[in-house]
Amino acid sequence: MKALALVILYLGVTLSPLALAWLGARPARSLWDELASGAGLLAYAIILVEFVLSGRFRSISARIGMDVTMRFHQLLGRTALVLALVHPFLYRTAFNPQRPWDATRQLTLTSDFTALTTGILAWVLLPAFVLLSIGRDKIPYKYETWRLMHGVGALLIAGLVLHHTLNAGRYSADPFLASVWIALFFIAALSLVHVYIVAPIRQKRRPWKVTAVRPIALKTWELALEPDGHQGMAYEAGQFVWLNVGNSAFSLHENPFSISSAPASGSGLQTVIKELGDFTRTLNKIESGTRAYVDGPHGNLVVSGRVEPGIALIAGGIGVAPLLSILRQLRHEHDKRPTMLVYGNRVEEQIIYREEIETLAREHGTKVVHVLSESPEGWSGRTGLVDADLIRGVFDFPEMDQWLCVLCGPPAMMADAEDTLIELGVPAHQILSERFTYD
Ligand SMILES: Cc1cc2nc3c(=O)[nH]c(=O)nc-3n(C[C@H](O)[C@H](O)[C@H](O)COP(=O)(O)OP(=O)(O)OC[C@H]3O[C@@H](n4cnc5c(N)ncnc54)[C@H](O)[C@@H]3O)c2cc1C
Repeated sequence: MKALALVILYLGVTLSPLALAWLGARPARSLWDELASGAGLLAYAIILVEFVLSGRFRSISARIGMDVTMRFHQLLGRTALVLALVHPFLYRTAFNPQRPWDATRQLTLTSDFTALTTGILAWVLLPAFVLLSIGRDKIPYKYETWRLMHGVGALLIAGLVLHHTLNAGRYSADPFLASVWIALFFIAALSLVHVYIVAPIRQKRRPWKVTAVRPIALKTWELALEPDGHQGMAYEAGQFVWLNVGNSAFSLHENPFSISSAPASGSGLQTVIKELGDFTRTLNKIESGTRAYVDGPHGNLVVSGRVEPGIALIAGGIGVAPLLSILRQLRHEHDKRPTMLVYGNRVEEQIIYREEIETLAREHGTKVVHVLSESPEGWSGRTGLVDADLIRGVFDFPEMDQWLCVLCGPPAMMADAEDTLIELGVPAHQILSERFTYD
């Protein structure tokens, strides 16, 4: 329901320029011309709302999850690109100076050089911008550099299109529609201001400090933080934060990590971090007492308030981090519902908090299924992948379709698990998932 409200709001905002153009009741042109204008209006509205989608607003991500928000952002970015690319080719009317007797520009398209130039520039930049985002992993830039280019590039394109729309657009010549575009552009720009200025100012006022960094498994570290001079942060088990360790609050060097501690454990935060790139490979150099900033909590991998009669947790590798937080919280609350944890890794040395997980099994009754794809001799758990066959085998009981299922792990594992759970009769609204990569 909450998600539906967001979808309705999204459609309302992106379709409003089209509706206003239609209500403007200008004299009709050929169908192709109307389609061309419509494609342009829709593309620009989508582009402007893209800023809000990537603005880390908790009111959005807490409803549908950050990864769904980002997937939506990617899909709609590509949709806007297609609409923008076809926009100039659909026109049938000629480019000509406006005729004195044609006040509504029914017979010509503007031939004003600057209005067309900004449109052409944006038209050329947009495909390059989207392709750079799709191929982000293949370009030799650091994530932070790409992110900066992405933000600045998006604002530049949006500014160029604003100029083009206000000066070349037929429908956007209407003062009301023009003011809607200006308002949407400012909202888009404010979303960037929110991420890069407002959020860091808030974080600067509420600093944290690192209290411990220690290796806990193969290439995996535990990083603990405590609030420095404030009460900490209210969060739900399963949520995540953007963490900035040792940099200015305004630095682009921050990374998303799930909170692995339970809210009930106090005001400190614990994360478990797997070595991957430039920040995560330098954890051994972080000293206790280092200043840190936390942006969050984000994410909707939240079981609190859910009333399903059982909870299945399916993790691949470091994806176990938010699920541990959930299990720790459930244990603390003496939640009586049955819980099952399926935890896949490549090798035994990657399993984190093995003893604690055994304690959970013993004392909280959590049924734990360890899965290794490269199991050692004498291994008592399962061997293979957390795939469809394994999930069908483990969750083969009739009441499974009533359970809540929480998934976190590599994309292929999550896709397999989601499909199989749905095949087992688990409705989609009983499956919560969080991906650790936004592609
Ligand atoms: C919601 C979420 C929760 C996560 N939780 C955990 C966790 O609990 N433990 C863990 O080990 N890993 C977690 N990750 C993955 C973790 O964020 C990356 O491994 C880490 O950021 C890599 O940073 P790096 O500087 O070492 O490597 P880089 O080479 O800089 O980055 C590698 C990749 O990490 C991602 N990444 C880096 N910075 C950001 C950023 N600011 N925003 C979004 N993505 C970024 C990008 O996909 C990038 O290509 C999580 C990711 C997400 C999205």
